[in-house]
Amino acid sequence: MLALRPCCEHCGTDLPPNSTHAMICSYECTFCADCVDQLFTNVCPNCGGGFVPRPIRPAAQLDKYPPKKERLHRPVDLTKYQELYLKNKHTPPEKR
Ligand SMILES: [Zn+2]
Ligand SMILES: [Zn+2]
Repeated sequence: MLALRPCCEHCGTDLPPNSTHAMICSYECTFCADCVDQLFTNVCPNCGGGFVPRPIRPAAQLDKYPPKKERLHRPVDLTKYQELYLKNKHTPPEKR
């Protein structure tokens, strides 16, 4: 089941289950749309894959299937990230 992580891994901004601002990669690395737009484009800093908007889980199902509680706030080292970014930014995710 998709892990609904509660915040942006980079900036720590809250991303509740109904947020339309949450972006995820295939491993559920979770970032806010601002960080993705301004810093990461379509290159996940952890795995190098692309991002898609996180689907919204209907509120009525959150009691039974709750979001994750643990806040994973682990700001990206942007200097180290440059290498991964430059290597991948011109290659669409499906060709990486
Ligand atoms: Zn963010
Ligand atoms: Zn990732």
